[in-house]
Amino acid sequence: MNIADDCVVTLAYTLRDDAGEVLDSATAAEPFAYLHGRRGVIAGLERELTGHASGDKLDVSLAPEDAYGEHNPARVQVVPRDRFPSDIEIAPGMMFQASDEHGGRLAVRVTEVEDDGVTVDANHPLAGQTLHFAVEVLDVRQATAEELTHGHVHGAGGHQH
Ligand code: ZN
Repeated sequence: MNIADDCVVTLAYTLRDDAGEVLDSATAAEPFAYLHGRRGVIAGLERELTGHASGDKLDVSLAPEDAYGEHNPARVQVVPRDRFPSDIEIAPGMMFQASDEHGGRLAVRVTEVEDDGVTVDANHPLAGQTLHFAVEVLDVRQATAEELTHGHVHGAGGHQH
């Protein structure tokens, strides 16, 4: 069958950045499965996969606006070191919860640590990047009624519950 809304799609893929560095991957042995049409993958990739069938291989390059958006400098802030717990060592790559200007919760990533301040970035780690996916469609099947109710895939590559 061909990929359409409410299918369970099982993929192997390699995701590379512009420099060719591997950012993420899934293999036939440990595949990734998602419910098509429910934002289980980024929109640009979902659009390209629509209509493909099991066995298809495709290369998809997505500009930032089709992926995780442009990197927004306004979402980078330097925060005084004393705003962080004193008993842990802050290092680049650590994630923290912060409050945004509306009182909501926001995940921020530490990008730089200096004596007087910690630089945190609330952009998605892949913001501003062109993403290159090499995808192989391993399987396409109709989702079960239970999967559609839950909004996610059960079994291999999905939720185990
Ligand atoms: Zn479930």
